[in-house]
Amino acid sequence: MSEPASQGQPGDVEVALYEVRKKIYPRAVTGLFAGWRWALVWFTQLLFYGLPWLSWGDRPMVLFDLEARRFYLLGIVLYPQDFIYLTGLLVISALSLFLFTAVAGRLWCGYACPQTVYTEIFMWVERKIEGDRSARMKLDKSPMSGAKFSRKAAKHVAWVLIALWTGITFVGYFTPIRELLGAIVTLSTGPWQTFWVLFYGFATWGNAGFMREQVCKYMCPYARFQSAMFDKDTMIITYDAARGEPRGSRSKKADPAALGLGACIDCSLCVQVCPTGIDIRKGLQYECIGCAACIDACDQVMDKMSYPRGLIRYTTENAMAEGLDTRAMLRRVARPRVLVYSGILLAVTLALFAHLLLRSPIKLDVIPDRSLGREVEEGMIENTYRLQFINSSETARRFLVKVDGIESIFVAGQTAFEIGPAGVRMVPVTVRTKPGNGKPGSNPIRFEVRAEDDESVSASAKSTFFVPR
Ligand code: SF4
Ligand code: SF4
Repeated sequence: MSEPASQGQPGDVEVALYEVRKKIYPRAVTGLFAGWRWALVWFTQLLFYGLPWLSWGDRPMVLFDLEARRFYLLGIVLYPQDFIYLTGLLVISALSLFLFTAVAGRLWCGYACPQTVYTEIFMWVERKIEGDRSARMKLDKSPMSGAKFSRKAAKHVAWVLIALWTGITFVGYFTPIRELLGAIVTLSTGPWQTFWVLFYGFATWGNAGFMREQVCKYMCPYARFQSAMFDKDTMIITYDAARGEPRGSRSKKADPAALGLGACIDCSLCVQVCPTGIDIRKGLQYECIGCAACIDACDQVMDKMSYPRGLIRYTTENAMAEGLDTRAMLRRVARPRVLVYSGILLAVTLALFAHLLLRSPIKLDVIPDRSLGREVEEGMIENTYRLQFINSSETARRFLVKVDGIESIFVAGQTAFEIGPAGVRMVPVTVRTKPGNGKPGSNPIRFEVRAEDDESVSASAKSTFFVPR
């Protein structure tokens, strides 16, 4: 009998498909870039947690009302027909990402990505409860005890509260948040609200508490394709090996030149603060999220050693190779790739805002009745339609309907319709023309609606008028 295929041959090495995760214990760091990161954490989170609480008139300032198929943004009401704006926003976001990446690498990842921001918040909580890197490592290695259990429990309670509040805030963009909180208190939330609060909360807890750098390394597609946007003039966080090597420990008073050493004292602080656990001295790695924690840590070491700062710094491949100073490096920001991204971004942004500002607050859709035209009293030809009005302004308005395209064509019956603020209304409309007008078969016509109180608020839509043969 032959050997089972799975047993392999002598000398075969079994290789695991997935790398076993080594837990990372990032050390706390302070400095210029840590300050920027926290400023961005505050900014993005004040925006995210605060916006659902703000009102615009008697409704929320930002609300995706999926049930009513409306999106309220400041004084603007958008409908599914305005999907183009969402597309425009996505194009602007993508172009901004291309632009920032071409100029300064993974700025988004390092400072503003929700994964970075929530990981930063969760790590802050962790440090407050379990202590900094060495204390956390010691705690994890120690056997379970009352003290260890209570610290771990306190951390998870804090994490779960933040995660749940994040989930509630997320759903607060789709349901007015005050109503949502009322429903949560009385345990009367709908099934979808409950699902999304828990799902979003669970994702926050899992991604920021446990997955952390794994999300950036294995799940985020941007990490994989961002190198395509890099060139030799893109700013990246780099270790200056020419200045740092050969590395080695020494006393502060020692002369590195006399010892044959570079500026790196091999303290490993840059590795200890790295949230992805990499050693930037090994060169640019895809795991680097560009958070600049290693710059802050190394600058502090350089200060203590009285060496110039910047052994790890933002620089470019060309600047390193050609020894460019900061001014010369920054001059290369305005290169063709960046100018093209900027030009397209500016054009799309201006076009989107201009379109948004100039759009008519009334929209009109015409649906012809399925029955073909018919002859009515005095030989007149009659067609019927359903007109859908969308009033995207915040005031109730009365609209007058007119029709043209065939001689003496007119709207018979009701010609004025009242539409409420941010209202949608479908109305039947009858159109007639005198006998002999229009050719037999389909004739193009045009409906026009105009606000009674403001002539400039109008919309039109094409349709056809059928004359029986
Ligand atoms: S922090 Fe600076 S000095 Fe310390 S190991 Fe890293 S590069 Fe070398
Ligand atoms: S190498 Fe430096 S910039 Fe990159 S992730 Fe680690 S600490 Fe952040």
